[in-house]
Amino acid sequence: MLSKVLSFFGNNQNGLTASRVNHVDRDYQRTFCRVPDETKLSPSLLEKRRTRDHVLKAFTQRVRISLINNTRAVTRAQERHQLSPIMTKLVGRAMSAASLLASWQYGDERVILEFRGTGPVEMIYAEAIRNGEVRAYTTTPKVNQASNMPLGLALGGGGTLRITKVLYNQASPYHSVVPLASADISSDIFNYYKYSEQIPAYVDLDTQLDYQDRVTFSGGLIIEALPALKDEKSNQNYLEPYVHRLQNLPPMSVLFGQDKHSLKTVLKAILQEELEEHSIQKLLVDFHCRCSKDKITKLLIKLQKEDLREFLDRQPGEKAVTCQFCNERYMLDTREVEELEALSKD
Ligand SMILES: [Zn+2]
Repeated sequence: MLSKVLSFFGNNQNGLTASRVNHVDRDYQRTFCRVPDETKLSPSLLEKRRTRDHVLKAFTQRVRISLINNTRAVTRAQERHQLSPIMTKLVGRAMSAASLLASWQYGDERVILEFRGTGPVEMIYAEAIRNGEVRAYTTTPKVNQASNMPLGLALGGGGTLRITKVLYNQASPYHSVVPLASADISSDIFNYYKYSEQIPAYVDLDTQLDYQDRVTFSGGLIIEALPALKDEKSNQNYLEPYVHRLQNLPPMSVLFGQDKHSLKTVLKAILQEELEEHSIQKLLVDFHCRCSKDKITKLLIKLQKEDLREFLDRQPGEKAVTCQFCNERYMLDTREVEELEALSKD
């Protein structure tokens, strides 16, 4: 089993070798901010830094770990798409997973997650870029379930998770499809690591709401095994020490929500003496969509003539296009409609 894992590490597209990670780390250090010594920051600045959405990631000889607090980004998604409580939880977890997976890529490389269930929830889409942008939507934003119902019943088992990575120096995107496990997002991402990446991993994602359905905390973490040391006999319990330490801590919603701990505090508690300051990277996260009226108009021009005609024949006030990713509505003014009219006659 170990040789299988090692050979996989040597060949997989993400190049999860220790030397590659060290090389990546040097690149990151040149480009992105380091984490300052928190003991030297004022309480107000500490609070500001703690509540700013971000990913914190680090690696050791044995594991790499990424943690996220994206409470604000998920609140923005909830507001933009008018998500029901259960959809906020599912979309929030999907956004966390996308950002955590993207955090180990380069620059504008992106990770797209598409969950297709067999329950009332049809599809959840989350897309994140290494530089911190994340956007998400669902085709069923209003699905509602009793608050104590397991999330997995909303999405439903038997569906699929499709993961797409758009990477530099790759002619086409890298796709991976795994069956949904418990359909609670965390276990589905775990399945992706287990069956597609074949990497021992621990995944814990959570999005919590208060009694008024406001997001009180969203975030989570992924711990991934790096290639075993040469004298490692088995990888069966590879992650056990880290998971054990994590499970001795309060739940994340308490750690980051009520108790206001920083991600770094938890990172230190999990990695302990293995953690080296130079390996820590912080990436800011925002709900952001690159759509614009100009891009939407260009898409309209590419429509079939009949479809463009149907759009132009709409009543004034209805000549608008809504971006499915962020729900921004773009209304075309008279001049823009006239330009489209002219193009439709070419
Ligand atoms: Zn948009």
